[in-house]
Amino acid sequence: MSASHPLRPVRWKRAFDLIAAAGLTKAPNVSIIPPRPATDDEIKLGHSADYLSAVKAMSSGLNSPAGPSHGFGPGDNPVYGGMYEANALTSGGTMVAAQAIADGSTDVAFNFAGGHQHHAMSDRASGFGVFNDTVMAARWLANQGMRVAYIDIDCHHGDGVQASFYGSQEVLTISLHESGQFLFPGTGNVKESGRDAGHGYSVNVPLAPHTSDAAYLDAFEAVVPPLVKAFKPDVVFTQLGVDTHFLDPITHLQLTVQGHAAVVRRLRELAAENGRWLAVGGGGYDLGAVARAWTVDLAIMAGVTLSADLPALVPESPSVTTYADDLEPTEGLVEMQVRNFNERSVAQVHEEIFPHFGLTQGGRRSS
Ligand SMILES: [Zn+2]
Repeated sequence: MSASHPLRPVRWKRAFDLIAAAGLTKAPNVSIIPPRPATDDEIKLGHSADYLSAVKAMSSGLNSPAGPSHGFGPGDNPVYGGMYEANALTSGGTMVAAQAIADGSTDVAFNFAGGHQHHAMSDRASGFGVFNDTVMAARWLANQGMRVAYIDIDCHHGDGVQASFYGSQEVLTISLHESGQFLFPGTGNVKESGRDAGHGYSVNVPLAPHTSDAAYLDAFEAVVPPLVKAFKPDVVFTQLGVDTHFLDPITHLQLTVQGHAAVVRRLRELAAENGRWLAVGGGGYDLGAVARAWTVDLAIMAGVTLSADLPALVPESPSVTTYADDLEPTEGLVEMQVRNFNERSVAQVHEEIFPHFGLTQGGRRSS
């Protein structure tokens, strides 16, 4: 993959370096489980056999005439040598995490090198995603008889995950994202609420560009906790993309690291009330913000309180010395427009989705 591609693996190294410098790799209740490549059977939980063969062929340098029809080519999804091995390994990390959750060896597992593949479709690479590890792990958990609520807070709509579970109640998928009117992949409106038996189990909360911490949290609160409580999952499965950050170069939301962390704290509460917590990373293309956010997320998972200041060992830039960002809240006309847009989305979710779960608008159960 070229050095200019936004999804450079260096973002995971930056995050891991900060996690280690913050002392989290040595925290008493944190252990590091090595990843392994996902098996063919695991990959086929999310992808067609045809697609898997094409990825393997292209990865080893063979020319696959089916490449373009599977979404590969210049741009977001370039073909590169070792593509199969690299993606099997990051996906395998998520499978290892899911297995640790299922066998009860941990209540919380986090693979921050997973989750960014949430756009990949059964037979098509998309949006930097080759193997959709979230689909693979969610379906695997569902096959073990576990109820899975998938909550995707990446700035982009989790379209690949939605598509995989669209026609069934197998997994409840909830995606909060910048509206598809303004951002790739263009989908994720409230009316995409599931098909047949899956109607009501595909939840989308499109948000306005410039949505800041407070507005985001309000939309989250109005939708996510009531649905998760009504669904009663065994596993809360979260995709923790950080491309909602105000410094992110390819999106337009305005969250800070502390705003992202406030959402993740609520996810921890929901997971603790309902079962176990499987977390993956996701997008996020301001490397410093990504490293700070996932370090804070892991601290929340491990119940560790970080100092406010970044460890001196990992200077981000001379002007960033704390985990938290210094950003003035959005105000005035922009904030009013944001609020109006988001309130419309929330009202639509209440109308379209809540009745399927016996919920009224305030999130209470109707009797
Ligand atoms: Zn994203």
